[in-house]
Amino acid sequence: MPVVRFAPSPTGFLHIGGARTCLFNWLYARSTKGKFILRIEDTDITRSGSKYLEEILESLKWMGLDWDEIYYQSKRFDIYRQHARKLLDEGKAYKDEEAIIYKIPEDAKIRFFDVLRGEIAVDTEQLKDQVMIKSDGSPAYNFCCVVDDALMGMTHIIRGDDHIANTPKQIMLYEALGFKSPKFVHIPMIHGEDGSRMSKRHGATAISEYKKQGYLPEALVNYLALLGWNPGTNKEIFNKDTLIKEFSLKRVNKTAAVFDINRLSWVNGQYIKAMDIEKLTRLIVPRLKEKEYIKDDYDEDWLKGLIDLYKTRLPTLDHFANLAEFFFTDNVRYDQEAVDKFLNSDNAAHCLEKFKQALEKTELFEHKVIEENIRDLVKDMGIKAGELIHPVRVALTGGTVSPGIFEVIEFLGKEKAVSRLEKVAKKIRSRSAMFDKLKEL
Ligand code: GLU
Repeated sequence: MPVVRFAPSPTGFLHIGGARTCLFNWLYARSTKGKFILRIEDTDITRSGSKYLEEILESLKWMGLDWDEIYYQSKRFDIYRQHARKLLDEGKAYKDEEAIIYKIPEDAKIRFFDVLRGEIAVDTEQLKDQVMIKSDGSPAYNFCCVVDDALMGMTHIIRGDDHIANTPKQIMLYEALGFKSPKFVHIPMIHGEDGSRMSKRHGATAISEYKKQGYLPEALVNYLALLGWNPGTNKEIFNKDTLIKEFSLKRVNKTAAVFDINRLSWVNGQYIKAMDIEKLTRLIVPRLKEKEYIKDDYDEDWLKGLIDLYKTRLPTLDHFANLAEFFFTDNVRYDQEAVDKFLNSDNAAHCLEKFKQALEKTELFEHKVIEENIRDLVKDMGIKAGELIHPVRVALTGGTVSPGIFEVIEFLGKEKAVSRLEKVAKKIRSRSAMFDKLKEL
């Protein structure tokens, strides 16, 4: 049975690269009915923090990457010492004060098999003696990693290729300890769009940060799977079950993957679009409460309808509060360019007034009825619909882009729509230096 592991060191948050490594291991285990082990590499007591550990576990749970077993290296120091002592007794290692150091055999060749790169051979001349137990009694990474990977029965080590230089050192230790070495899959790094290795400069890298910004775990998992794994088709939307069915190590790319936040946002938008409206509303409500756009007594049906109106336009959950802000406040944020273009004339004021009158006369305040009345008005005025609708959209929403204006008006409600149009028309008429003092609008 395949056995794989994800082995994070809790010396920092779980970032995009770590999450992808974890996902590939998890997918491999789930697709082969193997075992997925989480091993916390907390040997560096001073640098490991419980806040990082909690964050890592939280992020993995959030992404749905469940583990079959969990181990903490900090609880296994005796095991590492035992194995180091064995090598000492066999004369393969020596002591330097408290440290136990493995002596590299001379003139030997170390070979290992990488699933993506084939056989790799390194001369032992290129390696230095390896510290196994440091003088403070804690184990060194390359040593405890080998002891654990062997004792836990790993069949495959899937990890970032930043570890490839460690692998020959580890192979040597497998051999010295008499363990069979697993297969290795060194997955290419993730780069930013400028070609350099992914870092904070390329935007948020902590998984918790994406969560905060309103990315969905299923979208992130989908995107991360495609970051270095090639499904062999143009298909881009994969739920977890499909990923499990289709994932294979053979289709992991040999070159660096490029992280593209716009692609991630697109994938996220696809999941938001397809999401059940009840669930989507449940996810958005806390974000609106946080901004004090709604309180506990909000109108649920109204909100659900509004979210439904916007759900094809949301790259993240957070975008709803931004795009729909003008429904929740009368302090509409006006876009300067839009105002200059569409609200800068007496004719614009005239259009807003006419529109307002038509709304006042509309009894049944539903978008279809509103639209009919406005189409009549357009005919009466002998103008094009756009001439009327553009300034109205800017006056009501603050900008030039929104869902269908008649639906927007229905959701705003008669009172708000009418008073907003009136207010803006008055501002234009009075020309109270509005173009310098837009903030007052
Ligand atoms: N703790 C190591 C890391 O986070 C694990 C490396 C490995 O997978 O062997 O980089």
